[in-house]
Amino acid sequence: MSVYKLVCPACGHRMRIRNSEGQTPVFRSMYAQCMHLPCGATFSGSLTWDYALSPSGMEKPLVVLPVAPAIQRMQARRDLREKTDQLDLLDAAEASA
Ligand SMILES: [Zn+2]
Repeated sequence: MSVYKLVCPACGHRMRIRNSEGQTPVFRSMYAQCMHLPCGATFSGSLTWDYALSPSGMEKPLVVLPVAPAIQRMQARRDLREKTDQLDLLDAAEASA
């Protein structure tokens, strides 16, 4: 499993989240401190979840977010396209972007 590492906007070294508060299921306030001793800057910011890429498996999820526009475009293109056995390189490139 990979873990996203926060990067200090002042010096580019690792930061540690000191505290975070969930304001809503999709919005969280965060407080972070740079772990690079000569820097030591602290910041406040937020984390938001904006779109769903795939639906929750829960029967009654706490929130239902709109599907990401890029996913909707890809689905529409797939639905409109004629059936073909050829691998679509564009789809693969977009999915990994
Ligand atoms: Zn720093």
